[in-house]
Amino acid sequence: MIASPLRLRLDRDALVANWRTLAAMSGAAACGAAVKANGYGLGAREVVRHLAGAGCRDFFVATWSEALALADAGVAVSVLHGVRDADMAVALAASHARPVLNSVQQVRRWREAGGGACDVMVDTGMNRLGIAPEDVAAGLLHGLQVETLMSHLASADEDVPLNGRQRDAFAALRGRTGARRMSLANSAGIALGADYAFDLTRPGIALYGAAPAPVFTGRMRQVVTPEAQILQRRLVPAGEGVGYNLTWTAPADTEVAIVNLGYADGYLRCFSGKGTAMLGDRVLPVIGRVSMDLTAVDVSAVPDLGEGDWLALAYDLPATAALSGLSQYELLTGLGARFDRLWG
Ligand SMILES: *Cc1c(COP(=O)(O)O)cnc(C)c1O
Repeated sequence: MIASPLRLRLDRDALVANWRTLAAMSGAAACGAAVKANGYGLGAREVVRHLAGAGCRDFFVATWSEALALADAGVAVSVLHGVRDADMAVALAASHARPVLNSVQQVRRWREAGGGACDVMVDTGMNRLGIAPEDVAAGLLHGLQVETLMSHLASADEDVPLNGRQRDAFAALRGRTGARRMSLANSAGIALGADYAFDLTRPGIALYGAAPAPVFTGRMRQVVTPEAQILQRRLVPAGEGVGYNLTWTAPADTEVAIVNLGYADGYLRCFSGKGTAMLGDRVLPVIGRVSMDLTAVDVSAVPDLGEGDWLALAYDLPATAALSGLSQYELLTGLGARFDRLWG
């Protein structure tokens, strides 16, 4: 296979260290990992392999095709979106994966098909997916083999009374179902403290280097660094512009590297004139508009850099989210299929 002119450097040790940090913050609760959307863009199979090696046992995906991609990974997978009619054949046959049932209809569908172990999502106030606590009280889950009873926090990244209300509504279900375990907290929920951990936590974004709450700042290690190869280096004379609409004009003669990266790779136009490439300690500004497949960088400070050399883009998630206006989630999940994903 031909090497791509763009690659993601993925740091296995940082990923594992982040999971261990989150596991320690989860106290006595087990710590799982959300690997939906292809492991938030990193590659679900590799993320699962590395975290399973560190002792993680519970993984979460959104859909059954994501679950099938992990069929031989040797871990338990929960499918957050539950089962549509169209999923039933695959779901009943999958021994490694179980649905997270999200509605009265899904519970019926699973029960009538004689489905085995499942998880159940209860809506405690987000009004997205999940059955109502009243449905639980009315006996909807009787006779169902529930492995994990879950709920999801709407505002875990904010200090608002809703968090406590959701936790209390969820805690009130303890002992009311046959569920073996209860699980409430995503990454930001883990930061809310021991009362939110229950039996199992489900971090995603913080595993991959994000800081979704202040307590994570400086604690999570960067896992993902995009790198792009230089296609050509050119001298742009003072007064000339660069890129679409020539939005950047050279204030003086400027050495410019054109790198193989653009918005089709998830390096969006909001980085135009704002992003930076890094070379050791040196910070090299992105100039002009980011194109679909190309980006220009001012490399005047580095005389010996040219065609075939690689530049790393600054991609610390909290800082890059603040700079770009994108969320830390969008910064990861938008990274495209043209990157080679290289773990080191
Ligand atoms: C995505 C997701 C998670 C993980 O959330 P992060 O904010 O990435 O930690 C946990 N639980 C559910 C139900 C999810 O959809």
